Amino acid sequence: MRIINPATEDILATLNPDTRASIQNKFDAARASQKQWAELALKERISCLASFSGYLEKNAEELSRILTSEVGKPIKESQNEIRGALSRIRYFLDHSEKYLAETRVHESGGVIEVLSFEPLGVVANISAWNYPYLVAMNVIIPALVGGNAVLYKPSEHATLTGLEIANLLHRAGVPAAVFQTVVGSGEQGQMLCDLTLDGYFFTGSCKTGLNIAKAIAHKLVPVGLELGGKDPLYVMDDVTDVAHAAAAAVEGSFYNNGQSCCAVERIYVHEKIHDEFVQNFLSEVKKLRTGDPLDPKTTQGPLTREAQLDMLENQVGDALNRGATLALGGKRLKGRGYYFEPTVLLDVNHNMLVMREESFGPVIGIMKVSDDTAALKLMNDTEYGLTAAVYGTNESRAKKIMSEIHAGTVYFNCCDRVSPYLPWSGRKHSGMGSTLSHLGILAFVRPKGWHIRGVK
Ligand code: NAD
Repeated sequence: MRIINPATEDILATLNPDTRASIQNKFDAARASQKQWAELALKERISCLASFSGYLEKNAEELSRILTSEVGKPIKESQNEIRGALSRIRYFLDHSEKYLAETRVHESGGVIEVLSFEPLGVVANISAWNYPYLVAMNVIIPALVGGNAVLYKPSEHATLTGLEIANLLHRAGVPAAVFQTVVGSGEQGQMLCDLTLDGYFFTGSCKTGLNIAKAIAHKLVPVGLELGGKDPLYVMDDVTDVAHAAAAAVEGSFYNNGQSCCAVERIYVHEKIHDEFVQNFLSEVKKLRTGDPLDPKTTQGPLTREAQLDMLENQVGDALNRGATLALGGKRLKGRGYYFEPTVLLDVNHNMLVMREESFGPVIGIMKVSDDTAALKLMNDTEYGLTAAVYGTNESRAKKIMSEIHAGTVYFNCCDRVSPYLPWSGRKHSGMGSTLSHLGILAFVRPKGWHIRGVK
């Protein structure tokens, strides 16, 4: 299995993927050691993961370079990602004791009713490459804090980072059998689905998520699916600072080269301010700097996967054939590396792939709308439901739209934002279950209700 640097196409490393037998061995060892891990006091598990957090922070510079070399994201964004991961870990470590505590909830007719939580057992985390630290921490930390053993399969495009995460967890004292990395691609992911695990937590595409959900349905174990999106952003006509809204929309569309599950993927602008917005948007996009992702001045690195170049060219070609106007970009860059120009399409509509299918790249369509009703209808016209954003001045007008949006996260005057204090939860084909927040702590444990009638 070759690990390629997407900026240079050089081979960074060659690894041996796991086999069915090696995965079985890892599972057996995890099963044998999970109980002992769960029997440690919660405080001890928390302290172990606090030590992991310390190592992550101490090694952030080197780890961000490895991340950039493997996925191609600009070095500043890799550093931001590790900072973001540290604050997520902090959230889990600070709040788990409160939410996992055994609680006496009621007493009735001499019977004391107590709620406690137990680990699921051995769980799989099948992960994506676009934010390998962030999406892994959403699962790994609460799963380990909750007393589970974890078989973690990093994406084949972020394996070096996955191995670094495992190394630091082990250095911090998580037993090697309790947290194990499965190296490989979809084939190894399928092998995990064949095991009798106690929970499956997946981050990735809708297509793979559906395959996993089907493959494990008969097990009746918890499954969490964090899938793709086609997230809309609507700019109302009462927005006071059009330039500011345009700059925020550019950041939301092009950060991490658009390879974010909650990237802005469709923009709707009220007709009264459409032209002014577009003008500002284009001048912001022109400021983006494509180049070597290790150069701190670069804002746009290469795409992580070569195959995505064809997909984006196809979306652009389809839009142009159906009458869109190409305002900027539109093609891959010649030479080494998987680079694609930041691309803006105008005069788009919902017959075009670019407004319907996840682009997951630096391509955005901007559409003029006549009023809020039209905007809302278009925003909800998607099979996805991850996030949606509204920009404007009148908060109650925006909230009326936001309350009608079929998405797990809504934003007013912000976008492309995740907080550990709020659940991260897709609707429709964006997934099921929640990570982050107290819901994302409780997702990795099972409740047990105790009815205790004391003997007199
Ligand atoms: P992907 O579906 O190609 O792969 C994800 C993981 O699944 C990888 O580890 C891969 O090896 C594994 N896999 C592939 N086929 C499998 C199978 N049949 N059985 C088991 N495992 C299998 O997705 P990706 O390209 O890594 O990630 C990009 C996608 O992830 C985008 O759609 C993005 O929106 C989504 N994503 C969502 C969130 C979220 O929080 N909702 C966060 C990050 C990424």
